[in-house]
Amino acid sequence: MFEMNCPYCNEMGGLIATHRHLVDTHLDKVETVHEEDSGHMFYLVPCPFCGLKYRHRVKPRHRNPEFLQEFKAEIALVAFDQLLYHVLQNHSADVGVNLADLEME
Ligand SMILES: [Zn+2]
Ligand SMILES: [Zn+2]
Repeated sequence: MFEMNCPYCNEMGGLIATHRHLVDTHLDKVETVHEEDSGHMFYLVPCPFCGLKYRHRVKPRHRNPEFLQEFKAEIALVAFDQLLYHVLQNHSADVGVNLADLEME
């Protein structure tokens, strides 16, 4: 087990705790976009270190305009998963993690 800082506010915790913290505390960092023209839905999550914005298509099972609001927490679970992976791969020192100590399972 290793500890890391939250990429947004530096709170310390393990990977799972940090992921939960992100969903609980930083849900507002995840933007959801509904393109009127195509009808496609996306979420965006910004990396606080390099400014990269992950953009991923969301494919709701139902064409429900309320989808993005209702499922934002679920979308955020996936979005923050990808953000944490990116941060650990590219900015490990910025979140207080020594990559050499990481044992990825
Ligand atoms: Zn935080
Ligand atoms: Zn980055």
